[in-house]
Amino acid sequence: MSPSKNPRPEPSSSAPKQGSARRAAGQPPAAGGGSKAPAGGSNADASRPQIRPKAEGWQQPMDAEGRPKLQFAQPKVKQPPKHLADMTLDERIDKAKELGISGFRAKQLSVHYFRHYTADPEQMTDLPAETREQLVEEFLPPLLTEVRRLKTDDGATIKFLWRLFDGALVESVLMRYRSRITLCISSQCGCGMNCPFCATGQNGLTRNMSSAEIVDQIVQANRAIAAGELDAPNAAEIAEEQDHAALGEETEFAESEASAAAGKGASSSGVGPQRVSNIVFMGMGEPLANYKRVMSAVRRMVDPAPEGLGMSARGITISTVGLVPAIRKLADENLPITFALSLHAPDDQLRDELIPVNSRWKADEAIDAAYHYYETTGRRVSIEYALIKDMNDHLWRAELLAEKLNARGRGWVHVNPIPLNPTPGSIWTSSEPEVMRAFVNRLESLGVPTTLRDTRGKEIDGACGQLAAAED
Ligand code: SF4
Repeated sequence: MSPSKNPRPEPSSSAPKQGSARRAAGQPPAAGGGSKAPAGGSNADASRPQIRPKAEGWQQPMDAEGRPKLQFAQPKVKQPPKHLADMTLDERIDKAKELGISGFRAKQLSVHYFRHYTADPEQMTDLPAETREQLVEEFLPPLLTEVRRLKTDDGATIKFLWRLFDGALVESVLMRYRSRITLCISSQCGCGMNCPFCATGQNGLTRNMSSAEIVDQIVQANRAIAAGELDAPNAAEIAEEQDHAALGEETEFAESEASAAAGKGASSSGVGPQRVSNIVFMGMGEPLANYKRVMSAVRRMVDPAPEGLGMSARGITISTVGLVPAIRKLADENLPITFALSLHAPDDQLRDELIPVNSRWKADEAIDAAYHYYETTGRRVSIEYALIKDMNDHLWRAELLAEKLNARGRGWVHVNPIPLNPTPGSIWTSSEPEVMRAFVNRLESLGVPTTLRDTRGKEIDGACGQLAAAED
């Protein structure tokens, strides 16, 4: 399907206009000038303090030029054992034949894994008893061992902490909504992007996760759902879902799944999908820094069984802090996945410190790449914006963001501000509710579709990587 695109207004330019030069440089507009914002506006906002990002309680590694160090390549470390989900179906069939087993058995084994979420030979009764153990040993080495599981939101959210074969720890978060089940997954052990607010980045990048390790998070989550371990959302969470419905987290798959699942037995809520319907790559790691394995994992998610899980690509969101060449490559993959840019600041002065990869690719380049994704795929992109008190939540930044997005076109983007978790005494704390409302209102008044997101799992969450950091 090729979704229609909204017409691109002209002139289109990534360069900030003359009047916004101060804001583009990371300075509030001069009193009495520069802002076309509605009344009530920027001047009072300009008097608010400007907190600069800095690492708290840990030493942020710096490069020779004194900038936060970036690590793109993984160190040379032992890789996880090869698993069925690392291979295409043809490769599995070939491997089975090499082992002297019929290729058909590789297909049956794949169905057990991708459709019944099992790696237990006892349950594979359609396979000859003498080959079951061998098949499981060869194709399904254990990848993720559960270390901890924390439930919140009355059981509608589960946060998993997994230990990998080499002891590395990663997290995934499973959330049931009325008409979809979303899993937030990790793509790397640690992360090399060195964002000063992030627990995951503090120890750098240990290694990339394999495709199968990425996919197995979903299979394990599906297993928990099938066992009835994920409860239905309560009324408050369902009400909150209205907020999420406009986020590019599309529900069409979830709805079709709900009807398909009706014949497969009821969930604890009696409605909704029976397995993970939506994936967000917003757990540990920068997915586009592990491009090859992430894309192979996405193909395994999308391909129908026995090749893979048969999920809708439209329900998969890949989020990045702005690895521009990889965003452009992603646009050419011909997969209708949802793309999200974690921008967090429209001005380079702040973003250089907040998102160190901005020293490599500037905010305008990242926004241009996001727009290219829209132009190439016809799919509206999301801009993620964590609202941090007195750091990036000034109205002039909402205005600058709107100006930059509108300069490229209308209808191509949706902004999702997200309150940071409140952390008293830290510079990394949530904006005040009225400041968040004003920020959202300002974007909307300037014609930018915007939805303030709430975060699931507040009590157990913190930022991604905190659970793993606590366990180390
Ligand atoms: S915020 Fe994301 S990109 Fe930045 S260090 Fe953390 S995991 Fe990596």
